[in-house]
Parts: sequence; C-alpha cells; structure tokens
Amino acid sequence: MKVPFLDLKAQYETIRNDIAAALQQVLDATAFAGGPFVAQFEKSYAAFCRVNHVTGVGNGTDALWLALLALDVGPGDEVITAPNSFIATAEAISLAGATPVFVDIDETTFTMDPARIEAAITPRTKAIIPVHLFGQMADMDAIMAVARAHKLPVIEDAAQAQGAEYKGKRAGSIGDAGCFSFYPGKNLGAYGEAGAVATDNPEIDAKIRCLRDHGQYKKYHHNLIGWNARMDGFQGAVLDVKLKHLGRWNDARRQHARRYCSLLTGVKGVCLPAETDHGKHIFHVFALRVPRRDTVLQALADKGVACGIHYPVPIHLTEAYRFLDKGPGSFPVTERCAQELLSLPMYPELTEDQIAYVAQSVKEVVSA
Ligand SMILES: *Cc1c(COP(=O)(O)O)cnc(C)c1O
Repeated sequence: MKVPFLDLKAQYETIRNDIAAALQQVLDATAFAGGPFVAQFEKSYAAFCRVNHVTGVGNGTDALWLALLALDVGPGDEVITAPNSFIATAEAISLAGATPVFVDIDETTFTMDPARIEAAITPRTKAIIPVHLFGQMADMDAIMAVARAHKLPVIEDAAQAQGAEYKGKRAGSIGDAGCFSFYPGKNLGAYGEAGAVATDNPEIDAKIRCLRDHGQYKKYHHNLIGWNARMDGFQGAVLDVKLKHLGRWNDARRQHARRYCSLLTGVKGVCLPAETDHGKHIFHVFALRVPRRDTVLQALADKGVACGIHYPVPIHLTEAYRFLDKGPGSFPVTERCAQELLSLPMYPELTEDQIAYVAQSVKEVVSA
C-alpha cells in the first residue's frame, strides 16, 4: 500500500462542483484583486474565529509581518518567539527590522514554554509571538499573563491552527492579533497563496487594511509606506467554499489522531503526541517522537508510507540565523525534538485501512 503524506486531490474531488461554481462567479464579476469575494470570506472567517475583524492578505508570512508593522515593531526592537517553527515566524520579525529572541519549548506540546519568557524580556522587547504548532494552541493564559505584566502585545502565529481551541476560545482570538496562513497544505488551504489577520482591535485592523494596500486609507492618498499584500479574489471564493467544511475536516483529523494513538499506544520507542485537557488540537500535523528518526523515516518510505519532519533544523541553527550566535545547545528541548520528531500522513480523507497500514508499518520499523 502507498500512503502519501498529503492528498489535496482527495479533498478537491469532494467539492469540485462548488469550487468550479465559485471560480466562475469571480470570473463573471472580474473581481480579481481583493474585492467582494475576499470581503465575504473575511466576514465568514471572523465569525468562525469569533473575532470582530479579519483582513485577508497575500499569505501567512505577510500576515505576521503586517501585524508586527501595525504594532509599530521596527529596527532595534526584539520580538520573543519559539525556535521550532516554520522559518516564516522569524522572517517576519526580521523583515520588520527587528530581531527574533527565542525561548525554548515545552516538551509535551512543542509550544513556547511560558516559564521561560520572563528571562528573555529586555527593555527592547516589543512583542511576543507564540506559535500554535501542529494544530495545538500554546498555553495562552500563562503567555498573556507575562505579556500583560510587561505591557507587551501578543501576536498568535495560528498558521497551523484554524479552528483549534484553548479553553473554548478559538485560535487567533486571544492575543492582540492572530495570523493565519491558507497555504494549500494547511487545514484550511487556498488554491494558491493566501493568509489573514484576525483581531478584535479596530485600530489594528484598520492599519493592517491600510498596509496591505500600499498604505492608503483612500485611493492614491498614501498615509503609510505599505506593501501590496492583498488576497486575490479566487482565493477568497475558494476559502469561503472550503470554510463550510472545516469543522468536519478538523473532526476527521482528530478521529484519525485518536486511531493512530490507540494503535500505537504501548509500542516501545514511540512517544505519542499529547493533547492538553484545556485545548482542542486540530492535528495539522500528527508528530510522534522516535529514536533513530532518519532511519525510521527511510524505512517507512520503503514501505510506501510518506512521512515528514517538522522541522529538521531549528530556526536558530539555520544558516540564515547564524548571525544571532545561538549555537547548538542554546535551546536543548527544541534541539532534542528536532532530532526525534516524525510526522505521519494526516489529512481528513485518510482511510481506516491507510491508518492501520501506517501504524503497523511504524510498529515493524521501530522494533526492527
Ligand atoms: C505556513 C506557516 C507560516 C507561513 O505561511 P505562508 O502562507 O506560507 O507564508 C508561518 N508560520 C507557521 C507556523 C506556518 O506553519
């Protein structure tokens, strides 16, 4: 049996008529850059996240960058974040002119360890960006408490967490702003590039709307130096169709995760992902920990099971961030996880047979 890591086609097949109709509407309206289809999605997604405002942007990296600019983060500033994320989190900080300051993660949730934030705060700290990694939210109460005590704004990197919850609150609705990516492989994926910023704060929202459209509040009246970070009309239309299914798709992922866990519980050498009791994990990624990870990955590939690694090199150890001078040993929990984490195939359309085959293959490979 062959089990791909992702199967975007399987999902597309279930909604192809609705997608075709939605794309045709955009063509008929010639509403290509921003426009009514983006506005409609912004409204639906704000309701979904239970926030007052959502602004659609070009991608998740734009979302993070514009959120930082809207909070006046710039040269000379520091922004605290986690070193085990997709590099975009740090890139957005750098592109705003600021410097990322990493704090190590909690070993069970792989998200920022709130107990380590205080020690990383300096007079230059301007914001905190927790990352809701793999679809599980960071410990937001503890993070917000430290942030509020130091009057620091919080930007949630919710790129992997569309619909995840923390104590009944949706990802992106707790911090000052929540940033989403709709890259095709995310839980809510566009058919191209797209992202969004969610916020309850009307001033932050107005500034992001201005920045995404060349800093203009009114056409050709430029108050700020912004950028072209608009969402395109096709993506707005596709996302609005797909959003209606997201709850069901996330539930399917959770069910697959439970099945993986029940099949792999007690297997020696396998450390399964944990869900906190106050959160709703939406399993963007189902990552377990195994010794000799690279050997296991290859052996699974030989059996037709395509796995992934999120992420093989922590951000502080990438060539791009060598200038920060945080060598090996700087963030031991992150570095240990980077050597052991293995992501199994995960998408809503996975079948029971596929899950059983993947679990059986993991068992055989790990005990070999
Ligand atoms: C995908 C992702 C991003 C970047 O989103 P793009 O849409 O690819 O620009 C940022 N942060 C995290 C954690 C992500 O997974």
